[in-house]
This record gives sequence, C-alpha cells and structure tokens, in this order.
Amino acid sequence: MKAYTTYHLPLDLPEGHPFPLYKYRGVAEALRGLLLLEPAPEVPKEALFLAHDPLYLERVFREGLSRKESLRLGLPFTPAFLRRALHAAGGTLMAALDALEEGLGLNLAGGTHHAFPDRAEGYSLFNDVAVAVAWLRRRGFSGRVLVLDLDAHQGNGTAVFFGQDPTVYTLSLHGERNYPLKKERSDLDVGLPDGVGDGAYLRALEEALEKAGAFRPALVFYNAGVDVLKGDRFGRLSLSLEGVAQRDLRVYRFVKEVGAALVVVMGGGYNRDPRLTVEAHAATYRLALSSLA
Ligand SMILES: [Zn+2]
Repeated sequence: MKAYTTYHLPLDLPEGHPFPLYKYRGVAEALRGLLLLEPAPEVPKEALFLAHDPLYLERVFREGLSRKESLRLGLPFTPAFLRRALHAAGGTLMAALDALEEGLGLNLAGGTHHAFPDRAEGYSLFNDVAVAVAWLRRRGFSGRVLVLDLDAHQGNGTAVFFGQDPTVYTLSLHGERNYPLKKERSDLDVGLPDGVGDGAYLRALEEALEKAGAFRPALVFYNAGVDVLKGDRFGRLSLSLEGVAQRDLRVYRFVKEVGAALVVVMGGGYNRDPRLTVEAHAATYRLALSSLA
C-alpha cells in the first residue's frame, strides 16, 4: 500500500515558529516498512484552477501573498512553502485516485481545510480536498462525497467550497470556541466545548456519523487531525491517545458499513510533546491499514 509524503521538501521557518514541520518526517519514518512511501507529485495547475478562484491563483503564482495575507496564513509565504503546498495537494489528489481504484488512499500531508476559494488562512494555501474533488469530477466521478473533518478546528474553507454542492456533504466536529472564531456553515457542524474528553467526544461522533450515513457517500475524505489530543497547543480538547484510536476505528467501521472508498489526509497536530503528535498521526494510518487495506 502506497502513501504520499512531502517530508523531503524543505521549508524555511522563522526560529521558534509553531508549525510542526518535524511531524511529516516523523510520521513517514514511523510508517516506513508498513507503507510504500512515495514523494507526492506536484498537483496539476489545471486541478487547482478547477477549484480555486483563478484571480487568487494567478496572484499566488505571479507575486505570492501580501504581508497581510501571510499573517492570515500564519506562515511566511516563500517559494519553498508554495512548492510544499503544491506537492501536498498533489498527494491528496493521488490518494483520491488510489481510493477510487483500491478502496483506500493515504496522504501523509494535506488537510488544509482553512483555504477558501479566493484566500489563504490558517496554514492553508490550497484546499487539497476541494481540489481533489474537482479533479475527480472532471474525470467523470459522480458519486456522493463526504468530507469528514475531525480536526479540532472547523473546516471553514471546505464548508464554503461545497456550500452550494448537493453532491458533497461536509461534516465538521470541532471546538466551538476555538479558531476560526467566525464559523462557516457545513452541512453538519458539531461544536464541542473546551476540554472535551474521550467519552463525550465519541458520543458526539457517533451521533454525527449516523446523520452522515444517511447521505450514503461513495467516497469519504477523512481529515484526521490529531490536535484533539490532550496537550495540544491549539486544540483545546482533551482526548487520550486511546480515544483518538477509538475515533479512527469508528470512522473506519463507518466507511466499511456504508461501503465507501476512503482517503485519509493528515490535518493538524501540535502537541507540546512532539512524540505524541507523531505517534497519534502514525496510529491513524496504521489503523487504516489494518482495518481497510
Ligand atoms: Zn486543526
């Protein structure tokens, strides 16, 4: 089984920046031997243009982001950052093609759900899932799609991308008081209070999946952010490693029950203990393999 990676691509971050660059390499190394690691290819420009506002893209490619836009992105816009974003989106696109062929596709990157059609935000330059869906549609895939976003933050960009699309159901389970403060409207939003632990989280997930199951998706994109873990710098929730594993297993059982293909993208994870971030992300992929491959 293949998985796409971007860990080999350099990124220049300012000293002390909280972006967890380490985890991309860490997760790839934790899974080496279990998975065939493939460098994610650059996403075709044509795919980006199917999803994003062309004026936004042309500006990004011509001159990059302004200072103000970089602040909103939370990262300095550099050629290296652009390159990584192109490859991360390419990984999700390839994983989506794998999923349609083999039932499961894995990207050890992606999940940049704060990117809007016409702007960048929250570490997200391109919305990899929206780009992949647009590409699949162009290639003739017409099945119903569920975007199951279990990152601790609302998938606000994704909600806007698919707000008018009845063939895509967006479900976001997130911290209600957490970033982004202004929430967009997904098909189903479940806002959790700060500090929620395993039990309450898993009950909320159960209820949400029941509703999403009625949509009968043929393809599921799972944003498996692990910033729900206790000790995360930005997550404000309080799941244990075991709770995150239970979450993932519940998702994989759901996918089997509805008979959908699955794409797993990485999402956020910023634990104060970097080993926990890596372990939680790696477990998500390991469990996907043992449950679905
Ligand atoms: Zn997040």
